[in-house]
Amino acid sequence: MSDSEDTRLIIGGRRKEWTHGVVNPPVYRASTCLFESYAELRERTANPTAKKLFYARKGTPTQWALEEALTDLEGADGTMLFPSGIAAVTTAILSLVKAGDHVLITDSAYEPTRAFANGLLKTMNIQTDYYDPLIGSDISTLLKPNTSVVVTESPGSLTFEVQDIPAIVKAAKANGSYVVTDNTWATPLLFKPLDHGVDISVEACTKYIGGHSDSMIGSASAKGDAWKKLSKTAYQLGHMVAPDDAFLTSRGLRTLGIRMKAHEENALIVAAWLKDQPEVDKVLHPAFEDCPGHDLWERDFAGSSGLFSIILKGGTYPDTAAMVDRMRLFKMGFSWGGYESLILPADPSHNRTAVPWAADGPLLRIHIGLEGTDDLIQDLEAGLKRYSERLSS
Ligand SMILES: *Cc1c(COP(=O)(O)O)cnc(C)c1O
Repeated sequence: MSDSEDTRLIIGGRRKEWTHGVVNPPVYRASTCLFESYAELRERTANPTAKKLFYARKGTPTQWALEEALTDLEGADGTMLFPSGIAAVTTAILSLVKAGDHVLITDSAYEPTRAFANGLLKTMNIQTDYYDPLIGSDISTLLKPNTSVVVTESPGSLTFEVQDIPAIVKAAKANGSYVVTDNTWATPLLFKPLDHGVDISVEACTKYIGGHSDSMIGSASAKGDAWKKLSKTAYQLGHMVAPDDAFLTSRGLRTLGIRMKAHEENALIVAAWLKDQPEVDKVLHPAFEDCPGHDLWERDFAGSSGLFSIILKGGTYPDTAAMVDRMRLFKMGFSWGGYESLILPADPSHNRTAVPWAADGPLLRIHIGLEGTDDLIQDLEAGLKRYSERLSS
């Protein structure tokens, strides 16, 4: 019998040879690793991807423990760690392309992913087209003979469209193209991209996996041929995360299961309340029926996390400012996935080229933390009151 996911979150990567008898793999602050003999040097350097002390750019037990735990949760052959989520996204894509290739990226992608495609990829003579996140199997109409990668992100940043990953994978495979998924919203607990045929699953561990808003780190996990390409490219680019960040992320991982359940439960309560408020036009949350792709979420995901958006009725910048400037618990800031609630006004329209973003009112992205939901609702109620008062004045 294999262990449950709850158990695997607890025991993953905690090999005795790495922990030396304490619970958590210690923080190895290292550059040089010493060899006792030339023979040992030859033995330890024979295979650069083996988890043997060699040179700390190739990791130490602090990073290996996290890599091993993530590899298990993702159902991968291996995991590479990166100094940020975006470094994981960009290296995953880079490892699968060459000059003259074509890339397809969902129109709902995280904005820095687009910036990379429109910037560095373009200078490498790699052309990108953006596609409707809800395209499903019709992605086949956009695939070209030189399309090397299809990038998916489900649900989409800010706008939360859930994608038909299995249909996209099927069409991409038929064309000989790889598929990369940015799985940050779901974490491997709610969706496992590799189980659906995706080649590389990327997580901004900065968000839920670290979970405490105190480290920047990304991971990319892959299988087969894609794993070989990914690991080689990441080594060549010199990516390795600092041991303290790896340690904090491993520590976060141990409680990911219970935190995700609490984020889900709290977010569903607050989102349901928001849906009934007169100032709120729409709630974009994959677990709600009117969220684009909700049926796909129901089919493919094991649950929902704590991040969603709302669209307010009417209103412009000063009305939104009246609401968000004086929140007590919902702080304003980028990132999310920590224990604390956040609110962020954002305008997706700058980043849409395939399907223009049309909304009558301002969009607020909301992260629901682990506070009491009554307190969170009270804070939002006061904020919406400031919004409507400013609006009608
Ligand atoms: C935050 C985020 C990233 C990037 O992570 P960083 O660690 O901030 O670089 C990538 N994808 C998604 C969906 C994100 O929300």
